[in-house]
Order: sequence, then C-alpha cells, then structure tokens
Amino acid sequence: MPLKYYTHGRRDEMKVALTFDDGPNPPRTDQVMEILESRGARGTFFVLGKWVERFPEAFQRIVDKGHSIGNHSHLHEAHLGDFDRAEALIGNLLGRPTRFLRAHYFNFFTCLYSPVAMSRDMKIVDADVNPADYAKADPKAIIDATLEDPALAGGSIIDLHDGREFDDDARRLASPLPMIEALPAIVDGLQARGFELVGLDEMELVDPIEWQPDGRGNFASPEVRAAIQGLSGKAD
Ligand SMILES: [Zn+2]
Repeated sequence: MPLKYYTHGRRDEMKVALTFDDGPNPPRTDQVMEILESRGARGTFFVLGKWVERFPEAFQRIVDKGHSIGNHSHLHEAHLGDFDRAEALIGNLLGRPTRFLRAHYFNFFTCLYSPVAMSRDMKIVDADVNPADYAKADPKAIIDATLEDPALAGGSIIDLHDGREFDDDARRLASPLPMIEALPAIVDGLQARGFELVGLDEMELVDPIEWQPDGRGNFASPEVRAAIQGLSGKAD
C-alpha cells in the first residue's frame, strides 16, 4: 500500500490550521492555548508520547480545551514502532485512536512499518507553511516567515513548535520559545485576512502526496537508512 500524506486542506475554504509539534511542554503549551482561546482559535497539537507520559496533566488540559490531537511519535527518533508506542499511550488517555500523525524529520519511511501510521483512519499530515520557528530567535522573523509565505492560502497547514528536546527541566524552562511572542500577531494577521483558525478535525484534507523515497531519511538509524537507499536504488 502506498504511503500518502497531506500538506493542506481544501483551497476553496478560508480555513487555516495552526499545528504545534513536540509538546506538551508546560507552561508553554498553556500559554499557546491561552493565546488561541483569547482569539477564538483552535489548534492541533502533535504531541510526543514521552512528554505525554511525563506531563499527563498538561496533555489532559489540551484535550479539555477541545483542541485537536495528533501522534508525533514517542521518542522523536527514527525507531520502528515509535508511532505505535506513542499511540498506545495517547489513544488510551484519549479513549479513542488519534486520527492525525506527523512524521518527524520527514522520516516517512518508518511510517511504512507502523500499523498505526498505515491504518485506514489515520491521516499523515505535513504542512505547506513551514516558518522554521525552532531555528529563529526573533519573533518578528517568525511572524514574517508565516504571514509572508507565498504558500499561505485557504487550506494551509502551518507547522510551529511548542515543545523542546530537553529532558532536564531547568534547561527546558530556560530555553526561549520566541514562537510564543510571535503567536498573537500570527493569529491576528491570519484572522485579519479572513482566515478561520481551525483544528485539523475541521478541515477536509485534499490532494494527498504519494511518498517516494527522496533521501530525506537522513536522521534515520543506519539500518533504516540502508533500507531507504535500497528502496530508492541510490545513495543519499
Ligand atoms: Zn518534531
């Protein structure tokens, strides 16, 4: 079965989906939700199983606020089975399977080996607007990279990050997250253009892309990299 993923929803509807990866990351995730809520916006949180395990109450607050939830793997590493491990945890807390999954580092290959990722009701979701907020220190640069992206249109899916890769709490909390400072202006700017900010569960995803081995498995384990090269028939 071919692996398909989505980067956007219907272009003839003025809906945009803000997605937040790598959390939950209290209290930052709560700040994000406050900004969304104060502006009547919903978001989608692609959470990591390891952080859900560590911050179950923070995860529950996302659920209670009514935002969409997606599976973004357990360890954020390219181990086979990482999506399934996360799903066992997230789905159990949700009381139902997640419907959206985001591959980390474009490592779609591991999805091929995941029953959860390949299940019929699961949609693998990328984004068409990628402001790379994790690599920008200046909130203004994040705002501009989002609102001035030529791909921004009805149906756009915007990829932001509310989480951080630090196990140590002091480092995690000390790590700046300029996206939070940028977010009010991003939401205001999108709404001023007439976009409704919806969760992925309110967006009809269209034009799936059939994944082809494209050399983007560079973060994968050596075994997975070798398998990708075998699929594509060339070194990456
Ligand atoms: Zn991620």
